[in-house]
Amino acid sequence: MNEFTLKQALAGLRFGGLRYFDSIGSTNDEALAWAADNAPDLALVVADEQNSGRGRLNRKWLTPPGSAIAASLILRPEDDLRPHLSRVVGLAALAIAETLGGLNLSAQIKWPNDILLGGKKVAGILIENVWTGERLDALVIGMGINVRKRAVPPAEFLTFPATSIEDELKTSPPARAEILSKLLGRLIELRPRVGSDEFLEAWESGLAFRGRQVQVLSGAESPMLGEALGLAADGSLRMKNARGEIVAVRFGDVSLRGAE
Ligand code: ADP
Repeated sequence: MNEFTLKQALAGLRFGGLRYFDSIGSTNDEALAWAADNAPDLALVVADEQNSGRGRLNRKWLTPPGSAIAASLILRPEDDLRPHLSRVVGLAALAIAETLGGLNLSAQIKWPNDILLGGKKVAGILIENVWTGERLDALVIGMGINVRKRAVPPAEFLTFPATSIEDELKTSPPARAEILSKLLGRLIELRPRVGSDEFLEAWESGLAFRGRQVQVLSGAESPMLGEALGLAADGSLRMKNARGEIVAVRFGDVSLRGAE
């Protein structure tokens, strides 16, 4: 992927501008700075390699050169998106899952921010917000997708198994620029529907671990055990806890693990 092939692949999508880097620290950092400097809606930062790609908290996201998609998309929320900002992570997750579906891969969403193929992590999402006082000016949707085998970090770096599109397809994947173009097209299509029941249902039906026992890991707190039921209207995870009570786990720094 280079700037030229990327621009060609993205031609026809109505995104708000492109900043492409052969190598960068973090595409989200660049997008946050651009958003604070008046980036238009749907402005996009793409890098071939990230040297300090970020996950949530202080975790790292690895993007070796020539092998992965590292992209950060800036959204300027219009009034109809504002009541549904907590669903934006689902917008990214569903767009990624459906794009992988278009490659005949059956992706599942590990709520809240990871995409799985065959139970292994193929993509991660990092949403960050830009505020002016109390008003949310922009959201940055960071997406990292392992396309080629060599994007997959060594096992000792991981707390959850990882895979790539190439590993699961068992053949050469399409060019990264093509995959990214499909993904952005789908995300742009889905965005006006984020507030709808159909959107919530599609997101919910893509979830991994539904109807199964999971552990919810959350920082220093002891893990919570329960059955993953589905989604609440705000995109929280509905669970039945060990006492049989229905509880909602809010999007935050939580990680799911299968418990069976
Ligand atoms: P978690 O998955 O633990 O909830 P994050 O969503 O913040 O945490 O993702 C960061 C974590 O993802 C890292 O700590 C690392 O274990 C893992 N990781 C980093 N790079 C990759 C990658 N390219 N593919 C799969 N997993 C990765």
